[in-house]
Amino acid sequence: MNTARNTRVALVTGASRGIGAAVARRLARDGFAVAVNYASGSAQADALVAELEAAGARAIAVQADVANAEQVRRLFDTVETALGKVGLLVNNAGVLKTAPLAEHSDALYDQAFDINVRGTFNTLREAAARLADGGRIVNFSSTTLALNMPGYAIYNATKAAVEAFTQVFAKELRGRDITVNAVAPGPIATSLFLDGKTDEQIQTFAKMPPLQRLGQPEDIASVVSFLAGPDAGWVNGQILRANGGIA
Ligand code: NAP
Repeated sequence: MNTARNTRVALVTGASRGIGAAVARRLARDGFAVAVNYASGSAQADALVAELEAAGARAIAVQADVANAEQVRRLFDTVETALGKVGLLVNNAGVLKTAPLAEHSDALYDQAFDINVRGTFNTLREAAARLADGGRIVNFSSTTLALNMPGYAIYNATKAAVEAFTQVFAKELRGRDITVNAVAPGPIATSLFLDGKTDEQIQTFAKMPPLQRLGQPEDIASVVSFLAGPDAGWVNGQILRANGGIA
């Protein structure tokens, strides 16, 4: 019989590239069987699964748009059938499009809230019924929420919702021995952060933290690994900012 503690099955949303791919690699190294969810990047997800399997891990790639509740249900079904009951859910899938609030289009607003908020809601709601007792959930906020920079109103609003989900859901799962936390990265060198920025803008961000560099996906993967591991057993309902000291 599978339990969270002995099967250690992790479902990582948005794991075809960026932070999610680094999280999948790290969790596989930590001994998890890993489900690599993606929206459209099937080639990258398949390549990552092949890489994880070559390193001796169990892994599958599963296409599902987290914004779609039915697809999220099927995502959990597929993972349970292929790998066993999910013990760790990492809600990493997310999008960022910056623009002044006054210039934000309805389409971009809907996309941001559909993926970042409804996507997290869909997987959390599904996890309430599906996650093994003793399991872990790691959501994704952002340090931009603490910086209040122009252009980030919509994105920050989506991450504020994710933080609210995290803190309330941790309490709603009372009695299940499940922790719910969020990591709030500072700027990380992925396409989400780099695309559309000039070299000068990127350097400005890189100089902001006292540690004077951009974060790498592995910096965040190690935080997720901590929150998913035995040393974080007493950490619950928390938002962990991993950002080189930026805020
Ligand atoms: P990224 O490089 O753009 O990767 C995003 C991932 O999410 C991709 O695997 C993408 O899959 C997937 N995805 C997008 N929409 C999806 C959907 N509807 N359903 C399922 N998967 C979907 O982004 P990242 O920088 O790694 O960001 C990961 C998380 O960290 C996000 O929640 C982001 O808000 C947060 N974050 C990032 C930074 C940063 O500086 N990078 C800072 C703070 C917080 P496809 O390849 O299939 O499109």
